[in-house]
Amino acid sequence: MSYMALYRAYRPQTFKEVAGQKPIIQTLKNAIKLNKVAHAYLFAGPRGTGKTTMAKIMAKALNCEHGPTDDPCNECEICKGITKGTIPDVIEIDAASNNGVDEIRELRDNVKYLPSVCKYKVYIIDEVHMLSQGAFNALLKTLEEPPAHVIFILATTEPHKIPATILSRCQRFDFQAVRENDMIERLNTVCKEEKIKITDEAIQLVASFSEGGMRDALSLLDESISYSTKDIIDEADVLAVSGNVSDLNILNLLREVENNESAKALDILNKILDEGKEISKVISDIMTFLRNVLLFKINKITSTKEIYKQDEYISFANRISTNLVYKYLNLLNDCLNDIKYTNQKRAFLEICIIKMSDKSAVVDIDSLMRRIDSLERTIENLKNQPITQQTNMINEPMFSNITPFDEIDRNIEFDYSKCISTADVNVVLNNGDKELKLTVNNMLPKLVENYNLLEGIKTMAVSKKTAIFTLSTVGTCNRMMKDPNYTNILNFFKELGLKEVFFIDKKNSDEILQDFLSKFKAGDKSPILDNHDIRILKYVKTKEVSESSDGLDDLFDSDLIEEE
Ligand SMILES: [Zn+2]
Repeated sequence: MSYMALYRAYRPQTFKEVAGQKPIIQTLKNAIKLNKVAHAYLFAGPRGTGKTTMAKIMAKALNCEHGPTDDPCNECEICKGITKGTIPDVIEIDAASNNGVDEIRELRDNVKYLPSVCKYKVYIIDEVHMLSQGAFNALLKTLEEPPAHVIFILATTEPHKIPATILSRCQRFDFQAVRENDMIERLNTVCKEEKIKITDEAIQLVASFSEGGMRDALSLLDESISYSTKDIIDEADVLAVSGNVSDLNILNLLREVENNESAKALDILNKILDEGKEISKVISDIMTFLRNVLLFKINKITSTKEIYKQDEYISFANRISTNLVYKYLNLLNDCLNDIKYTNQKRAFLEICIIKMSDKSAVVDIDSLMRRIDSLERTIENLKNQPITQQTNMINEPMFSNITPFDEIDRNIEFDYSKCISTADVNVVLNNGDKELKLTVNNMLPKLVENYNLLEGIKTMAVSKKTAIFTLSTVGTCNRMMKDPNYTNILNFFKELGLKEVFFIDKKNSDEILQDFLSKFKAGDKSPILDNHDIRILKYVKTKEVSESSDGLDDLFDSDLIEEE
């Protein structure tokens, strides 16, 4: 006896046997019961979700000798004939192989004749979107005035390619991808009936690779059976025939990438590719793996797959930063797009893996933030340059080339004589007044409440004369060092008798404090700081600001509101 493929042997013959698609089945059964069957249906949805299977069940339901019935018998001559494809009144057209006008013209000519053995003539047109424009026109003529004894069932994976004139004449059903659990259940039934021995992990793998297509799942199961030489089919068998890359290989690859061992990573990649795996499939497998890593990092969700329970995986997923995962995903996604237009797919993937392994190519969020901060400083500095100087700078080639921001920053001629100096800060640190600092600290919430630009402000140091505050960016610090902000803030602290305030960006503040503390701890009671690169301009009185007010009202002046 010849072997019949599983997907044929286990093609559902009744509505009950169809995996998933419950709302569609319910609607079709009702239509049959209430004698409200439409003249044309469109079954749209991904491949292998049961569209043509459902069409044939529908044909049986309408024509069964005991029908029309929502539960065809599969015993009578007509039901059996439809299953075998020998009933002339149920006509299957595969538009993918017959995209000519002739086929449809023939259909149009024959449609008027009454069915020979059935109650209804059922035309099932599979992959209907493949019809040519001429064929669509011919079909439309028939759909416009369908004889009462004819029912059309059009099936397609790409409904958007079907002309609106056709769509508007069909009752449309959208088939959903079969859920993994439904699929596993069906696969288990099949394996039980066929007495196939297979591990749970292998079944799960078959289901997840088939992406909602039941036919694909059964075909993959079939291939795994043929391939396996063991008593029981396992994951390795499924992997071998599916062309997917094992998660263990991917984990090993990514661990080398993470360690910047590009040569070792390429070795693993080559082993994977030498097994004949398709490049785009390898890329999307790595992306799926990384997506699972992200899910694990966010929710600690672990997939039921065996690999995700192993220590090696869990420590990798915990260790790798989210930013790095995003970076890998971006590089892989670019690669996936690039290889569409080249024959050098392998080289592109290899380059991608090298890029992933290269730390210097990593643009993570942190370094991006640093660059933005640095750019902010640059802009702020430019604003504060006399106009003539700015013009000169524009004429210089500095901005005509794409230069990393950090470099631009370093190259800028900077007038440090106008800036807060390390020595200024040093004086305050060496004359710190703890009590006064505490008082200043207690006043900050009220200040921020009225002045949300200062959100996140910290007190760095306070002496009898001077308070130093920390803000996140150089830009905001420079804004605070100018009127009316500066005078308003100083007025706010008027009762404390402070003569000046400084604002220092967090990066500098952290570095300075660290410098100070390490010298202090080493026994120096009045440490002299190293020189720090503070690019915040000192206060210069620029306009008249009332010094008599207590500050808070002025905090709301129009200039400030504009700034925010
Ligand atoms: Zn029957």
